[in-house]
Amino acid sequence: MSFLIRQLLKMPRQLVNREELGKLITKTSGAISMITESHYSVRSISSNNTYVITTTKSEWTCSCPDYARHNSRCKHVYAVEFYRSLK
Ligand SMILES: [Zn+2]
Repeated sequence: MSFLIRQLLKMPRQLVNREELGKLITKTSGAISMITESHYSVRSISSNNTYVITTTKSEWTCSCPDYARHNSRCKHVYAVEFYRSLK
């Protein structure tokens, strides 16, 4: 199997993991605080860090290293989305 195909096969699993981790954060009491409608803070479940999640009209962004590295939805963004969908 080529390197590229292996990478492609890995991708959905990574996305699922972030989504699952996001759900886990949503279920963690006190992990998510709403600051404004477009501004949330999410406490990390693996460290003492707190990340800031903000939205423009269409996109959520996060201040964590994972978001900075991949420039795509991280577990915190998923967490905020789940949190909002529960309301
Ligand atoms: Zn994040």
